Amino acid sequence: MSTRSSLPVIAVIGSLNADLTSYTSRIPNGGETLHGTSFKTGSGGKGGNQACACAKLSRSSTNLLTGSATVKMVGAVGNDQHGSMLLKDLQATGVNTSGVVVKDDVETGVAIIIVEESSGENRILLNAGANYSISPLQFEELQEPYPDLIILQLEVPVETTVQILRAARKASVPVLLNPAPAVELPEEVYEGLDYLIVNESEVVILCGCSAEEIEDVENLPTVGRQFHEKGVKNVIVTLGGRGVFFSVKGGENGLVEAKKVEVVDTTAAGDTFVGAYALEVVKGEFNAKSAVEMANRAAALTIGKKGAQSSIPWADGLGGS
Ligand code: ADP
Repeated sequence: MSTRSSLPVIAVIGSLNADLTSYTSRIPNGGETLHGTSFKTGSGGKGGNQACACAKLSRSSTNLLTGSATVKMVGAVGNDQHGSMLLKDLQATGVNTSGVVVKDDVETGVAIIIVEESSGENRILLNAGANYSISPLQFEELQEPYPDLIILQLEVPVETTVQILRAARKASVPVLLNPAPAVELPEEVYEGLDYLIVNESEVVILCGCSAEEIEDVENLPTVGRQFHEKGVKNVIVTLGGRGVFFSVKGGENGLVEAKKVEVVDTTAAGDTFVGAYALEVVKGEFNAKSAVEMANRAAALTIGKKGAQSSIPWADGLGGS
């Protein structure tokens, strides 16, 4: 088991991408050229965003040195400007980046993002770059001291994610899996998985159900049960502006409504949700519903601001409920 320091440790193992974001009044059609309204280069990647969310939500903007959790990022970037930006930005939020390898032979991952301003909705094209150089061989055993929670996504090779899950299970380290972007996964992924956080489009791919079925909240307990039968303990389905469904194996389930906020840019809403939820997991005395309520509140704050990591609130920006 972990030789626990005074603060709980969250290890995020996953992707780091430079986000190249174009804002537009509407999405261009195929073959059409359109002027964007603005452009921004920023730090992103689901791994990086979730590490940033854990770090920012656990400490005050005026004091990075102390917070309620230690956050470690494990991943890879290229030896280029985007890689330097990603490392600098994570360090500026208090994330420990000593687990990020800088590679000479591959470029940093890049996400091309188009945000439609009228709806706040985004479309994303990923170029994995260095993220796909993270090999399963690096994770045959987890290194001690073990973290209190590992967070995984699917922007690194699936074989690597599967191997980390095996190693974590062997070391009895809890895992939160956010299977995004979704692909069909081997059944072993779900066996004994502690926390699964999926959005609507991901649940359609993973469950083989239709988008219409997910639209109907009456069907969500069945979705929860389907994952519980595969071995997942806590299932959380984020439903965008509809809120969040949660289901605990052998326990309660329910729907928490989304906060009513103006939608500016939904980028990183899901990642903020994951970060806030993870902090509830490691702080002790875990309550499934309160964790979802807390994460729902934090995610709503993110969509009121443009950008990915820059839109995630600090602990002192969370305010009351
Ligand atoms: P993702 O960003 O992964 O696609 P969702 O769109 O489901 O995930 O959003 C994650 C969470 O962010 C939601 O469960 C909710 O808490 C919050 N959220 C997203 N969209 C809205 C919205 N329009 N209004 C309020 N909260 C929202």
